[in-house]
Amino acid sequence: MVEEKLPVLAVDLGGTKILTALVLDGRILVKDYSTTNARGGVSSVIKRINESIARVLKQCGQDCSQIYSISIAAAGAIDTRNGVVTLSPNLPDWRDVPLAKMIQEKYPLKTYLVHDAGAAALGEHGYGAGKGLENIIFLTVSTGIGGGIIINNKLYEGAAGAAGEVGHMTIDINGSKCPCGNTGCLENLASGTAMAREAVRLIKSGEKSSLIDMVKGKIDRITAKEILYAVNEQDSLAMSVVNRIAFNLGVGLVNLVNIFNPEMIVIGGGISNFGEYLLEPARRVVKERAFPFPAKMVKIVKAKLGEDAGVIGAEVYARQRN
Ligand SMILES: [Zn+2]
Repeated sequence: MVEEKLPVLAVDLGGTKILTALVLDGRILVKDYSTTNARGGVSSVIKRINESIARVLKQCGQDCSQIYSISIAAAGAIDTRNGVVTLSPNLPDWRDVPLAKMIQEKYPLKTYLVHDAGAAALGEHGYGAGKGLENIIFLTVSTGIGGGIIINNKLYEGAAGAAGEVGHMTIDINGSKCPCGNTGCLENLASGTAMAREAVRLIKSGEKSSLIDMVKGKIDRITAKEILYAVNEQDSLAMSVVNRIAFNLGVGLVNLVNIFNPEMIVIGGGISNFGEYLLEPARRVVKERAFPFPAKMVKIVKAKLGEDAGVIGAEVYARQRN
């Protein structure tokens, strides 16, 4: 008798929302959203995760109560061996929280914890843009920049799970201070936050833009969302800001191409919605600056799985760890 393959109960724990899903071979069978309410503290967040898991189990009825394992993707410095969130930018008061163990108290299943961008990398590799390739790097570019590195079909975790922080490679040694404590990190130069900051700086220096009217003169309210809108209307300031950010991102990609020689770099996160406005200049920088041989073979593309990448990748992680 062939044993039935059981789904993984995957949780993507973000700073504002929790996505819980039952995932089988990259397919989402059941999905539940909840707000994180990170301000409520550790026990409140754990309670919300447990409630979300309970709703998923209820939705899929009794047959699905057979679960392969639980797999949680979370941001921050994750000790994947012990299932501990050592600290997290999204969850301010979390210090050395044994998240896997705490969930197991309620649901006695094998429970894994993985870095969220690492999980998204596994998702894009297994079922998204990087399907069928062996070595890819995934970057999620939004308010910050996270990443995951797939080497020989496996997530590269380093000695303890902290590898893949591509957003914190130093690009400008004299650059501005990054929340991580270093200066001139890629995240400071190529994230959505950096994009908005650059637009505001140029407007304050006297440049004209349709962005000013868009936010009714309150220029500190400009975000990447408004800039995307302005770029689609061919606003010249917005175009030059995006070019600048794309150039900076490209410089980060040059380093990754030279070090890892990946077959593909997949760009996800909100900023990937800039599409070719972002990717085309970034590709050009890679072509101009990286070693020609790896630069020629690397494909730089937009992610395919959107916000589902984390839970889909969490399934992959659980099966690889077993
Ligand atoms: Zn940093």
